[in-house]
Amino acid sequence: MDHSTIVAIATATGGAIGIIRLSGPDALVIADRVFRSAKGKTLAQEVPYRLCFGHVIAPSPDGGEELVDEVLASVFHAPNSYTGEDCVELNCHGSRYILQRVVELLISSGARMAEPGEFTKRAFLNGKFDLSQAEAVADIISCYSAATHRLAINQMRGGVSTELSRLREQLLHLTSLMELELDFSEEDVEFVSREELRTLAQTIEHRIDHLAESFHTGNAIKNGVTVAIIGAPNVGKSTLLNALLKEEKAIVSDIQGTTRDVIEDVIQIEGVTFRFFDTAGIRKTTDRIEQMGIDRTIQTLDRAQIVLLLSEKGIDFPHLQIPADKTVLRVVNKSDITHPQNSFIYNKVSPGGYIHISALTGAGMPLLTRQLVEAAAVPSVSGNEPVITSLRHYQSLILARADIRRVLEALQQQVPCDLVSQDLRQCLHHLAEITGGEITSEDVLGSIFSSFCIGK
Ligand code: GDP
Repeated sequence: MDHSTIVAIATATGGAIGIIRLSGPDALVIADRVFRSAKGKTLAQEVPYRLCFGHVIAPSPDGGEELVDEVLASVFHAPNSYTGEDCVELNCHGSRYILQRVVELLISSGARMAEPGEFTKRAFLNGKFDLSQAEAVADIISCYSAATHRLAINQMRGGVSTELSRLREQLLHLTSLMELELDFSEEDVEFVSREELRTLAQTIEHRIDHLAESFHTGNAIKNGVTVAIIGAPNVGKSTLLNALLKEEKAIVSDIQGTTRDVIEDVIQIEGVTFRFFDTAGIRKTTDRIEQMGIDRTIQTLDRAQIVLLLSEKGIDFPHLQIPADKTVLRVVNKSDITHPQNSFIYNKVSPGGYIHISALTGAGMPLLTRQLVEAAAVPSVSGNEPVITSLRHYQSLILARADIRRVLEALQQQVPCDLVSQDLRQCLHHLAEITGGEITSEDVLGSIFSSFCIGK
């Protein structure tokens, strides 16, 4: 492990107070080079876990000293700190200039600039929490609703880790039963029947499956339910998106084919987060750039959970192949032109399954948003059950599920125990990847922590 002392600004800019964080074996010594406590003590002599008033001092051009800021310092001794190392935090005034100046002073006194997520990475490496909890720290910082907050808190407090360690125990139990059978296979004694082993493996498979499936909910809550708005050029896709967003974010234009790129916007409707993609209009085109936009529409369709098919007169899209797992909402726009006198069409879904709206006047929008929330079908989560929100965890669970399914198959087909054990070990390995229980490669750690902000 790297034994340097790292420094970074831990707070966002613009606040009244800005916090600078130092962590590493020389944190106190380095901080002492720029900080003078009002009581004249060194930070090592100060009472830890308390705020201590003092000044940050810099050498001035005339050879004397200059006051940079009046600050409050706090000292955390290893291992009782966030990172598990000696730490110092300086609460300065929130000026960008002051904060950068203090960081520069600390760097010239022996610290080095922290990389993104390096404080949390050190906390993980020092065993403060496992990898899934470390990742939850980033989710806590970026949570934006009651539901995302609940999920992040649960994961940070070890909700996912606890479920995984239960699974691990069951897997180890199954492995030991199998190895027992292997050890005594010569002696013609059957300790546990294959049926019992299968039941055990099945229980594990159910639990892994349940956890993996929770990703659909977790992902919908964290990243939003994906909705692709699809329709011919000029049908009103951008106008609809704007009506949904209630602000002008997408490009609206009378010229056909202007929405060449996929525009993505996140909006909360009745507590459900939606991620809308407004896509290039689907039609036959000779324009190469527009063709690229249309190709992207097809890709967007794959990513979406809900497909909102927008037309002007309830025209279907016979040439468009919509995968069976998508929920399709058929929406007829510009009803203010086609049904100028007919306001009741906006109240309920038509017998043909069409939702009539006018994106321009806003008529029919309440029905559409209600249908969207229903189609999203995001279950509410209590915060007590483990819910997977990370794609990395989901991918490991999918691999673990495949491993345990192979175990089940092998047990069914009377495959020798030693061959089955290999899949069990793989299953354990894939689950351990989630919590980082086994040695995790620098590449994996790098890709996880680089998405954090600097100072976390
Ligand atoms: P897109 O190409 O599908 O994104 O279509 P736009 O949103 O750019 O809309 C094309 C034109 O139709 C614009 O002039 C809009 O003002 C108009 N438009 C969109 N929705 C409605 C509607 O509900 N009623 C009426 N009368 N015009 C609309």
